[in-house]
Amino acid sequence: MSPEVNPFESLQEQIDDASDYLEYSTDVLERLKHPERVLETNLSVEMDDGSVEVFRAYRSQFNGDRGPYKGGIRYHPQVTRDEVKALSGWMVYKCAAVNIPYGGGKGGIEIDPRQYSASEIERITRSFAKELRQIIGEDRDIPAPDVNTGQREMNWIKDTYETLENTTEPGVITGKAPESGGSAGRVEATGRSVMLTAREAFDYLGKDIEDATVAVQGYGNAGSVAAKLIEDLGANIVAVSDSSGAVYNPDGLGARDAKAFKSETGSLAGYEGATEELTNEELLTMDVDLLVPAALENAIDGDLARDVQADIVVEAANGPLTPNADDVFTERDVAVFPDILANAGGVTVSYFEWVQNRQRFYWSEERVNDELETIITNAFDDLVETYEETGAPNFRTAMYVVAIQRVVAAAEEGGIWP
Ligand code: NAD
Repeated sequence: MSPEVNPFESLQEQIDDASDYLEYSTDVLERLKHPERVLETNLSVEMDDGSVEVFRAYRSQFNGDRGPYKGGIRYHPQVTRDEVKALSGWMVYKCAAVNIPYGGGKGGIEIDPRQYSASEIERITRSFAKELRQIIGEDRDIPAPDVNTGQREMNWIKDTYETLENTTEPGVITGKAPESGGSAGRVEATGRSVMLTAREAFDYLGKDIEDATVAVQGYGNAGSVAAKLIEDLGANIVAVSDSSGAVYNPDGLGARDAKAFKSETGSLAGYEGATEELTNEELLTMDVDLLVPAALENAIDGDLARDVQADIVVEAANGPLTPNADDVFTERDVAVFPDILANAGGVTVSYFEWVQNRQRFYWSEERVNDELETIITNAFDDLVETYEETGAPNFRTAMYVVAIQRVVAAAEEGGIWP
C-alpha cells in the first residue's frame, strides 16, 4: 500500500491524462475534477456501555449531470474526505463508462467496524442515515454497500429513511436483502463483471483464459466471487490473499473451498488447500497470466509495478494502482483493464435493483446476469473501439475518454444555470 498517494489526486491525474485525447476547454475539465458538494458530519452515538462516541462521516456528491448521484458507503479506519471525494468521482466515470443513467457519489465513516458490536453498528448506521436523509432519495442520491458494509447496513438505512419520511421508497438505497427489495444477482455482480472483463480481455488480446494462472489480492465480496467465476472459465486460481497474508498452490487453490475456509475461520491463514503461505507483496509479483487486485486503493505503486510479472491486470478494487504504477505498466506493455469497467457490475445490478424497485416488478437471476453481460460486453466494445481510434496509451485512458465524453454531452444538453 502507498498511503502517501492521495486517491483524489490520482483521479484528477486520470482525467488530465484523458484530456489529451479530448478537445475541451480547461473550464469544462476543471468541473469534472471536483465534487459538486460534500457532506461532512460527526455522529454522536451511544455505545453498549452507556458512553458516547463520535464518528466522522462523509457523503460526496461528485456530479449529477447524467442522473442521481450513486455510490457506496464504506466503513474503514482510513476513510478520509479526499478518499470519499475520489471514490465519488470514480463512480461518475464508472456509470458513464457502462452507460447507466447515474451521476456519482460515495460515503464513508471513519471506523474500524470490527471493534463494535452489531447493535452499536446499527445505531451508528441509523445515525448516519438520519444525516443522509436530507440529501438522499431515489431521484437524488442512492447509496449502496462498499467495503465493510452489506445488506444489513443497507436495510437499516432504508428502514431509517422510510420511517422518518413516512413512506415506502425501496429505491432510496441498493444492495438490500431480497426480502427488503434487493435484486437477484446483486451480491455476485461485481465479481461477475470482473470475470466478464477478464474473459473479453483475454479474447481481445488473443490469449486463452482456459488454464491461465491467476492471482487475486483481497478475498472479500469482489475478489472471492471473481476468483470463483474465473475458475469456472477453466482458469487456475493459484494464489489469493486477505489482510492476514496470501496462500498459494501451483495446482490451483479451489476458489470455493478457500472462500468457505475464510468464512468459517475469518481468514485464509492455515487454509489446507494451500501448499505455501506468501506475503501480499509476493502474491502481487508472482509470475501469473492474470492479476486481480481486489482489496483497496494504492495496492501497487510505481516501484512494485516494476516487479509485477503478470501480463494482464483486471482491477476489481477501486483505484488499486497509483498513477506511477499505471505509467510503469504502460511502459512495460502490461495490459491493465480499469476499475471503472471491470468492477462496474456492482453498480449496474444496483441500477437493475432500482429499476425493479420503481416498477415493483422483480426479475429472475438469469435475466439479471444476461442484462449485466450485455452492458459489460457493450462497454468493453466501446473501450476497444476508442482505444484503437484515439491511439490512447492504455485502456484506462481510453475508458476515461469514453466516459468523460458522455458526462460532458449530458452537461451541455442541460446548459448552464445562471
Ligand atoms: P470486502 O470488505 O468484502 O473485501 C476486502 C478484502 O480485502 C478482504 O478479504 C480483506 O481482508 C482484504 N484486504 C484488505 N487489505 C488487504 C491487504 N493489504 N492485502 C490483501 N488483502 C487485503 O470488500 P469488497 O466489497 O470486496 O471491496 C473490495 C474492493 O472492491 C474495494 O476497492 C471496493 O471499493 C471495490 N468494489 C466493491 C464492490 C462491491 O460490490 N462489493 C463494487 C465495486 C467496487
